[in-house]
Amino acid sequence: MDFSELVALYEKLESTPKRLEMTDYLAAYFKEVPKTKIRRVVYLIQGILVPEHQGVELGVADKLCMRAIANASGQSIKNIEAAFRKKGDLGVVAQDAMSKKTQTTLSSSELSVDKVYDNLFKVATASGAGSQDHKIKLLSELFSSSAPLEAKAIARFVTGSLRLGVAEPTIIDALSVWSVGDKSAKEDLERAFNLTSDLGWVAETLFEKGMESVKTFSPTPFHPIRPALAERLPSAEKIIEKLGTASVEAKYDGLRLQVHKKGDEVRIYSRRQENVTPMFPDVVAATKKQFAAKDAIFEGEAIGVDAAGKFVAFQETVQRKRKHGVAEAAQQIPLKLFCFELLYADGRDLTNEPYQLRREELEKRVRKGTVLDVAATHLVSDSKELETLFDAFVGEGLEGVMAKDLEAPYVAGARKFAWIKLKRSYASNLADSLDVVVIGFYYGKGKRTKFGFGGLLTAVYDESSNQFKSIAKIGTGFNEEQMSAFRELLEKDVVPEKPKNVDCLIVPDEWVKPKHVVTVVADELTRSPTHTAGWKDQEGLALRFPRLKGFVREDKAAKQATTVKEVLDLYDLQRSRSG
Ligand code: AMP
Repeated sequence: MDFSELVALYEKLESTPKRLEMTDYLAAYFKEVPKTKIRRVVYLIQGILVPEHQGVELGVADKLCMRAIANASGQSIKNIEAAFRKKGDLGVVAQDAMSKKTQTTLSSSELSVDKVYDNLFKVATASGAGSQDHKIKLLSELFSSSAPLEAKAIARFVTGSLRLGVAEPTIIDALSVWSVGDKSAKEDLERAFNLTSDLGWVAETLFEKGMESVKTFSPTPFHPIRPALAERLPSAEKIIEKLGTASVEAKYDGLRLQVHKKGDEVRIYSRRQENVTPMFPDVVAATKKQFAAKDAIFEGEAIGVDAAGKFVAFQETVQRKRKHGVAEAAQQIPLKLFCFELLYADGRDLTNEPYQLRREELEKRVRKGTVLDVAATHLVSDSKELETLFDAFVGEGLEGVMAKDLEAPYVAGARKFAWIKLKRSYASNLADSLDVVVIGFYYGKGKRTKFGFGGLLTAVYDESSNQFKSIAKIGTGFNEEQMSAFRELLEKDVVPEKPKNVDCLIVPDEWVKPKHVVTVVADELTRSPTHTAGWKDQEGLALRFPRLKGFVREDKAAKQATTVKEVLDLYDLQRSRSG
């Protein structure tokens, strides 16, 4: 199989933005591809050598590629570098360099797809002493045997700048056309791809064994499944309308992990199917201990917890995604993995089973322990109840809720209404945070009694009256350390009665001098008869679902807080956005 034919296809694909045309070009080309080559050909069209989860990275630096072009073309590296500065595209540089050379030499040997693939694979896997020189030699060899357009393709391929613009769905369409003459086999091909993240493997199965075999693909440990995605709806009501009864789970703001277990070996994949196993030794160990199945594929959200067992912010959890200092990070930011899906267990494909059954099977298998747990869930069929849950989960510092269709299969790689998310940030119309002034505080009930602190009463500044007008009671977003710290700080500023420059209808447990500024985020501004900011017609404006961000802002004085005017502007903006 000549590489030049594949390059001709590259040129055609690059020349059109139209998906239908691309599909036709691909399908016509596939007719010429022998079944022993299709796997490699598909990878090369995708611009990869193997699926990403296998962790073979080509990553050839521009410099190295230029040296290979110089070697093969007989030009000086200075010349090649100058050409690159001018053209900004190594593909064109390689093409020009090789076309100058072919004018002076008689013929170049024909490159095969196999030869190109083999050399590139060796480039990708070369390591250790002398590997740079070895890579240059392998690439030079390819360039030397290349016609100009082939050189262009190789240079772009190795530097990750192929511009075919052809996405996986288009390749799938073309495989379907190749197979049955139209796109009717698309869904089966898609499913096989979603279950394996390996389009080369799917194509090879199709070419060698036919469509019936493609239909038999099922989850296989160590082949990451493309994750199901969530839809969004703006309110609890809309969610219940859509799902009727739903399993409503906490939405943890962490890292999605897909864990594969095969006997004693565990591998972990990210949401983008990268193999991230070395980053999570704690999850690997816990899976061996806590997951009661010989072989399994399950998913969960990993989130960091602090010493007091509270969830840490996403920015902290995400630090666990690192290549170096893994052991230290694992100690500093211990994770909990809240499992929410079971896709495969001991030979059984669960992806086509209804959610409720998958969840039951999952619960049976997660043993009690420190790292693995099952995501908190409640069966809900009433929107008020959903709202209450949402508030409770958000109160615990979580991102919102995931409502799941009890009957739905696991829709790998797709966004269907099987999962619907309701998040704080877009139940929100209020994208900005506000800086508000503390005018009072509460002692705290239940668990908070021991801190002597339960929340803040806050206000914004009104320039025209030089007064602080109340806008929110903030009861969430504090960690335990902050609760103690607030109590200690505010005690010093307690005043016996409402200060003159404070306009407020509600009475906190203690009034304080309006001087400390804190940052708050909220879902939206609403009209309220209890708060005085922007007071008009017996109503002011209040923050809905306010949450504290951080501690006191030392850099701001009370009069530099958000003003009533800004709040009114935000309210207008919010109304215009929601129509
Ligand atoms: P989003 O990233 O906002 O589209 O929300 C979907 C993501 O939420 C998933 O990919 C998971 O990483 C995460 N997530 C957190 N908790 C859950 C849960 N209980 N069920 C499903 N996904 C969850």
